[in-house]
Amino acid sequence: MVLPFLSINDFKLEFKPEHEIFRKSVREFVEREVIPRIAEMEKTRTIPRDLHEKAAQQGFFGIDIPIKYGGQGGDTLMMVLLSEELCRAYPAFSTYLLVHGLFTYPILKYGTEEQKKKYLPQIASGEKLAAHASTEASGGSDPAGIQTTAKKINNHWVLTGRKMFITSGDIANYYIVPARTSSPPSRRERWRGITCFIVERDWIGVSASRMEMVGLKASHTAEVIFDDVKVPEENVLGPIGEGFKILMDTYDHGRIGVAAQAVGLTQNAFEKSLNYALQRNVFEKPIISYQAIQFYLTDILTELLAARFLTYWAAYLADQGRPEAIFVASIAKAYATEVAERAALKTINIHAGYGVAVENYVDMLLRDAEIMKIYEGTNEIQRMITIRQLLKKVFGIDLLGLS
Ligand SMILES: Cc1cc2nc3c(=O)[nH]c(=O)nc-3n(C[C@H](O)[C@H](O)[C@H](O)COP(=O)(O)OP(=O)(O)OC[C@H]3O[C@@H](n4cnc5c(N)ncnc54)[C@H](O)[C@@H]3O)c2cc1C
Repeated sequence: MVLPFLSINDFKLEFKPEHEIFRKSVREFVEREVIPRIAEMEKTRTIPRDLHEKAAQQGFFGIDIPIKYGGQGGDTLMMVLLSEELCRAYPAFSTYLLVHGLFTYPILKYGTEEQKKKYLPQIASGEKLAAHASTEASGGSDPAGIQTTAKKINNHWVLTGRKMFITSGDIANYYIVPARTSSPPSRRERWRGITCFIVERDWIGVSASRMEMVGLKASHTAEVIFDDVKVPEENVLGPIGEGFKILMDTYDHGRIGVAAQAVGLTQNAFEKSLNYALQRNVFEKPIISYQAIQFYLTDILTELLAARFLTYWAAYLADQGRPEAIFVASIAKAYATEVAERAALKTINIHAGYGVAVENYVDMLLRDAEIMKIYEGTNEIQRMITIRQLLKKVFGIDLLGLS
């Protein structure tokens, strides 16, 4: 045994030829359509509609949605490559596109056939936008403690609550919303009694207002209020009272995409730093000839490669249906996002004055990396998940009592 794996044969990674073809096609797309428009998007704090349409034509909105529901039928590795390449170009655009997974994944896994047919094709085509509204003002790390409620009245539910920091919350057409539908049976089982709902933004009682964040400027973040919203019975997602498990499963899957975002951001930091170090002359020599700068570059590259291997491996394990994918994804998310932060700081150091001049967007790397450390579970929470999952999947010990 190579604790916590069985043997060295578990440390394997295989790509298909279509993975590289796809990665190259995304690279060409972002070089042509996204990178030239970064200044515009940072200024307007929004993704232009024509860029949305072009991404939709490429099938980017439905990359991991099955062909049957209008998507591309790609695997987790495909989603990771999309996330990485988009993020290398412009992280806010990658968040705008990939947040859909937090809506489509739970519907695909727990939804009824009617829910899948109704919602998935509209998202896959880019016709509608979706969001995932779980976090509340009282704290995002503890979804079992949410205070939004839903009460059953005749054949519908009445949903009341306030959600914070919701990506695309003010522009999405649809949301996944967890709410408490019954009191937990005990303190140990406080996660029980939460139910997930599919809610539409144009229903009476739904309102949203945008929040301003320091990073991911063009990705909208919003507070969303549900004020006695009438939700039909057919919009309950999954079993009543078991929504917490749906949330955990959704984040287990989604955080591989955040790790990939961080890898893309670090790739950008490395390329920017290398190019600048080669062309910037100080004391009559390019700064790359100085050992301090060489050390910075080597350190960024070392961590970038390690983060990329971890992230691809997490995706590969997920595609093989391996339970270890969950804790490898948590490790990859925490590690890759902290690597991104360190790489962003070194990139600012290498650029010095130009690194903090607003029009160069070097500081954007740091602002965006900070958010990646927080969303889809902070890195403190990832470290807790790592140990919990390791104990559960490898040793059969269930600390949360979720079984
Ligand atoms: C730009 C952006 C977009 C977002 N998009 C979405 C979205 O689309 N949908 C959504 O539902 N949410 C979204 N979030 C919310 C995000 O998931 C939460 O911010 C995150 O889960 C942390 O919650 P919190 O900010 O309330 O921090 P808190 O939960 O209050 O945590 C505060 C601090 O305490 C630490 N902490 C908490 N509990 C523990 C513990 N048990 N042990 C050790 N440390 C602990 C945390 O790591 C953190 O450092 C988004 C956030 C941002 C910034």
